[in-house]
Amino acid sequence: MAKKQFKAESKRLLDLMINSIYTHKEIFLREIISNASDACDKLCYQALTDESVGMNRKDFKIELKVDKENRLITVSDNGIGMDKDDLENNLGVIASSGSYKFKQEVGDDAKDTDVIGQFGVGFYSAFMVADHITVVTKKYGSDTAYMWQSAGADGYTITECEKDTVGTDIIMHVKPDTDDEKYSEFLESWRLQELVRKYSDYIRFPIRMEVSKTRKKEDSPDDKPEYETYTEVETLNSMVPIWQRRKSNVKPEEYNKFYRDKFHDYTDPQRVIAVSAEGAVTYKALLFIPGATPYDYYTKEYEKGLQLYSNGVLIMDKCADLLPEHFRFVRGVVDSPDLSLNISRELLQHDRQLKVIAANLEKKIKSELVKMMKDDREGYEKFWKNFGRQLKFGVVSEYGAHKDLLKDLLMFYSSTEKKPVTLGEYISRMKEDQKYIYYASGETLDKVDKLPQTELLKDKGIEILYFTEDIDEFCAQTIRSEDDKELRSILDQEIEEGAEKKAEEASDAHKSTFDFVKEALGDKVKEVKASARLKSHPVCLTAGEGLSFEMEKYFQSVQPDSTIKADRIMELNVDHPVFQALETAVTADPDKAKKYAELLYSQALLIAGLPLEDPSGYTDLVCELMK
Ligand code: ADP
Ligand code: MG
Repeated sequence: MAKKQFKAESKRLLDLMINSIYTHKEIFLREIISNASDACDKLCYQALTDESVGMNRKDFKIELKVDKENRLITVSDNGIGMDKDDLENNLGVIASSGSYKFKQEVGDDAKDTDVIGQFGVGFYSAFMVADHITVVTKKYGSDTAYMWQSAGADGYTITECEKDTVGTDIIMHVKPDTDDEKYSEFLESWRLQELVRKYSDYIRFPIRMEVSKTRKKEDSPDDKPEYETYTEVETLNSMVPIWQRRKSNVKPEEYNKFYRDKFHDYTDPQRVIAVSAEGAVTYKALLFIPGATPYDYYTKEYEKGLQLYSNGVLIMDKCADLLPEHFRFVRGVVDSPDLSLNISRELLQHDRQLKVIAANLEKKIKSELVKMMKDDREGYEKFWKNFGRQLKFGVVSEYGAHKDLLKDLLMFYSSTEKKPVTLGEYISRMKEDQKYIYYASGETLDKVDKLPQTELLKDKGIEILYFTEDIDEFCAQTIRSEDDKELRSILDQEIEEGAEKKAEEASDAHKSTFDFVKEALGDKVKEVKASARLKSHPVCLTAGEGLSFEMEKYFQSVQPDSTIKADRIMELNVDHPVFQALETAVTADPDKAKKYAELLYSQALLIAGLPLEDPSGYTDLVCELMK
């Protein structure tokens, strides 16, 4: 029997497979099992219209066999089978192989990409682990069985052979181990079980394999038990994916268990989102909002993405493209029959479908979070604690491109409610003549609460949002305003219209005092002026428009030698007795007035949480004035 050559491009793909440095060689089993499942599907479909098939859905199965001694793995199905032409056309050419086309398009860059393993590569992937493959097959309705044999690149042979039943056996002779590759692991039954569960758990036909087990010998005494091994044929796959079931038929415990097992989490998910979409793209998705922040969530280690299936067959473990960055905490699975296992069927279109799914899921996640905020506030607050920071980053990222989507989900601590509130809730409580949404930043809630600048507004019963995370002010600057209400920092911006003007008048009235202080402090401060934001405190520092002190601290923390500094504007409370003492000293005892100025500046730094430039100089000054 003459050997036939593979078509040229098939040959090159084969080459790619055989010499693949690709680490996910294990996917070969998924490919072979998927083909077996397809073959069962085909005959099952035919049985619907052709009574002579005489088979039912439940009669189909896929069997795995391992022969360690001879290094053989056999995958058998009782599906449609192949005749001689089918063998020529289907296994002799890889015309449909997208992996090859892909490789051609991207050239050598593809060498290290995951594409080969993440998308279907079909039958030929078996050559990654097998040096010789035999296919024994008999097509439904045909009397003759055929054997196809190939040892890879040098071609294949087809001969007639004996086979009683309709269907196909794929017999793979596993390569010998090398220093780098231990192919023998694929001859271990536990390893094959693991692979079936990982990639083919939701194949809708049973995948059966003889597995060995141990049990206590029946006649052995209980206190001195003896064990024996025996074998039993087991179905390895669970067949029906939980996401294919109607949500109303699944108990919450079942979802929780699925989530914990699948994503290795000890905590139950906080929210389960089941999506079933038909239309432009058909898919099912089962998404989870974790109940706790993964320990590595805010590190580089954490990998976002959803598991992607096509008809129950795993295509990709973490498909990052399905989740926007701001929802990267979401875990789950997406299953779409529209995605082919094989990227051959148009890489581009494939891409477009993924995009449609991703866009729908983003909307879905957002609306679920909004719903949760309304119907389970406590739950939402917990969620916010776990992942709120991520949403704030989302607002700031990409120049605020996602702020409209995300801003209703944000919460900030409220001075009057004593808990996190949304901007919408804040606005609903605003005083009639209140123009702005006020916020104040600091390290902790307690520290912000004690800032002198908060006193005046608190006195008037006006709500203030307390910002305690470094990202908060960046977030406010990105959002700028909500519902026409501008966000304003009570530390740095004008609090009320006209307030600045009044303060300016006060500054003019006490001009010589302010000039004196500015002169005494020199470059340390940009400006010294009367304050419109103080009540019982004598002094505070503001940064004016632009960079705030919290931002300055943030930059300092990420880059200790950062020279990015906020402006320092010193504001004095002209109604405070300390100001009067200062003013008196300016004329009566300028030396002392200079010291007062230093003292007040240092105090202002301390309150703003900024480091003193000269701590011992400050304490000396306090002591001196006490004497
Ligand atoms: P794909 O599955 O994407 O078509 P493959 O390379 O995996 O590509 O398989 C090529 C073809 O070989 C299949 O389309 C099918 O026609 C045939 N084939 C492979 N395995 C079997 C099988 N177990 N039974 C019947 N036909 C098969
Ligand atoms: Mg296939």
